[in-house]
Amino acid sequence: VIEIGQPEHSVVTTCAYCGVGCSFKAEMRGEEVVRMVPWKDGKANRGHSCVKGRFAWGYTTHKDRILNPMVREKITDPWREVTWEEAFAHIASEFRRIQYQYGRASIGGITSSRCTNEETYLVQKLIRQGFRNNNVDTCARVCHSPTGYGLGQTYGTSAGTQDFDSVEQSDVIMVIGANPSAAHPVFASRMKKRIRQGAKLIVLDPRETETVNSVHAKADYHLPLRPGTNVAVVTSLAHVIVTEGLFDETFVRERCDWSEFEDWAAFVAEERNSPEVVGKLAGVDPEVIRGAARLYATGGNGAIYYGLGVTEHSQGSTTVMAIANLAMATGNLGRRGVGVNPLRGQNNVQGACDMGSFPHELPGYRHISGEAVRDVYESLWGVKLDDEPGLRIPNMLDAAVEGSFKGIYVQGEDILQSDPDTKHVAAGLAAMECVVVHDLFLNETANYAHVFLPGSTFLEKDGTFTNAERRINRVRKVMAPKNGLADWEVTQRLAQAMGLTWAYAHPSEIMAEIAQTTPAFASVSYELLEEKGSVQWPCNEKAPDGTPIMHVYGFVRGKGKFIRTEYVATDEKTGPRFPLLLTTGRILSQYNVGAQTRRTDNVVWHGEDRLEINPHDAEQRGVRDGDWVRLASRAGETTLRALITDRVAAGVVYTTFHHPDTQANVITTDFSDWATNCPEYKVTAVQVAPSNGP
Ligand code: SF4
Repeated sequence: VIEIGQPEHSVVTTCAYCGVGCSFKAEMRGEEVVRMVPWKDGKANRGHSCVKGRFAWGYTTHKDRILNPMVREKITDPWREVTWEEAFAHIASEFRRIQYQYGRASIGGITSSRCTNEETYLVQKLIRQGFRNNNVDTCARVCHSPTGYGLGQTYGTSAGTQDFDSVEQSDVIMVIGANPSAAHPVFASRMKKRIRQGAKLIVLDPRETETVNSVHAKADYHLPLRPGTNVAVVTSLAHVIVTEGLFDETFVRERCDWSEFEDWAAFVAEERNSPEVVGKLAGVDPEVIRGAARLYATGGNGAIYYGLGVTEHSQGSTTVMAIANLAMATGNLGRRGVGVNPLRGQNNVQGACDMGSFPHELPGYRHISGEAVRDVYESLWGVKLDDEPGLRIPNMLDAAVEGSFKGIYVQGEDILQSDPDTKHVAAGLAAMECVVVHDLFLNETANYAHVFLPGSTFLEKDGTFTNAERRINRVRKVMAPKNGLADWEVTQRLAQAMGLTWAYAHPSEIMAEIAQTTPAFASVSYELLEEKGSVQWPCNEKAPDGTPIMHVYGFVRGKGKFIRTEYVATDEKTGPRFPLLLTTGRILSQYNVGAQTRRTDNVVWHGEDRLEINPHDAEQRGVRDGDWVRLASRAGETTLRALITDRVAAGVVYTTFHHPDTQANVITTDFSDWATNCPEYKVTAVQVAPSNGP
């Protein structure tokens, strides 16, 4: 039972969990949150919320929070509390020493999709202006970087095409590699409402998730494809559409390059892409592939929503392009009820990518090699920028192991727990001479840190988050930072210690710089956000009220580009030693690695990660429901309890990654997307055997 008193005042802010970006009224008594009330005027949630956002404040006051900076010489030494000044001076001196000794490219930084736009902008600025290199990356690397690549190549911009309201005019909804019922619950409710009104649902997922089959909505077609066969199956849908003449010739001729379409159409029409051949490969009934393709092409407004089950593969970028092809071929773009929409896992994945947190791009997805865009920042920041892309997260770790990368600033990210191949991450961190972790808690990565900078929660700072529909929402300070400094102030103070003359007095001034330098944000300001509540970028002279639907009159790149999507089997193969395929996901009540939800004591939702296994596979191994099992891959092994269910097909096992004890990423391998290095979390060959427990 939670005892609550009467609120004295309230502040409207934005949930810091998933990419839906729900608005809440935080009702306060002094500095204490009394309750979080979903805000009826929030354009992303319209008064709704899920359990995570509703109880999202408990971790703010959790005893595990670290509130003072700490330093140690070696990672085996005990931590020593220091003042902020000492911490910044120590980092600045260490980073300068390392660069003097090992070269300018020997340090870098990682920012987080959990942080505000203003914070991620500052981190990439610190690295480009202060470190004088492009070694900046974000945790979007491990989730939606293929979205950036795939939609950028085909449509010309790295973002979803629709607002959430658009789903209310969809006739056919196709969900690929996503389980919004668990991961994006408020959007899932809107989607299911539309399905109850008569819209049809197609789901491509190896599991029979809550999205496939719930009391609220059932899929008309479920394609339970074998993990790793996304490209083949989506291309097979295109095969049916092309060979049966179901494509929208008028749209393609007007909006796309016709000769590229013809080349692509000839490719998808090949026999190897037929439902019969692909069905065998993917374990899907060919008639289900045919039925789903016909429904999507002819059922009215067709909208596609996809998640990490698309991107976290060795062909993640290829699948995104295959999806983009499908929507172009059927004319399902540029109006309400249609579109291609990545469901972003974290609150500010979209924003972190928009803000130039990638080693090859400045804010607004402009490649670092572009002289004109470099000029903009060079004249504003007074430095010559490196025109070569920097290191991605996995490259930083590789370089650390090899000895050329020695220092890192990690803001709001626990790479040891969330990135693949934990042993390799640990080896990279252990090889560095100055690891700075800036976070709320002493996370797993902090085991390898030399400096710990306490972070602030979303309730303790001002800024903006950009949700999955490109909506820029205000984050408003509800209480003073318990650690004394909001995260943007920490980065600013570090920059000043490194000799930069930054003097932002408020995050609104950072947004003013973003607007000044980034065309898609040119009209965005805190005044506009106060006036309108929120806006969707592009928001500039051409679109002063923002842009709910993209590509209405033409694609951002001009003509839409069809790209051949050849299926290439992953190198991660099953065999006698590792005969099952492991895939991963989330549950409704936990969030990612659980750092916040596991420490939110104002609601009881603690559990454990379980291994879902089909009854056939369990029986073969003598595993009963609830038994401990050993889960092993070529990368490592862990132990967890079995959950026997036919939600997963024979040959496939599934787990979540919310609890550090499970160490799910000890199992995942170092294979990654060919274009972006996004890890292949969703396909790992494993063995399961009975165990006596951890
Ligand atoms: Fe927060 Fe997402 Fe839940 Fe909305 S749906 S309350 S943004 S976790």
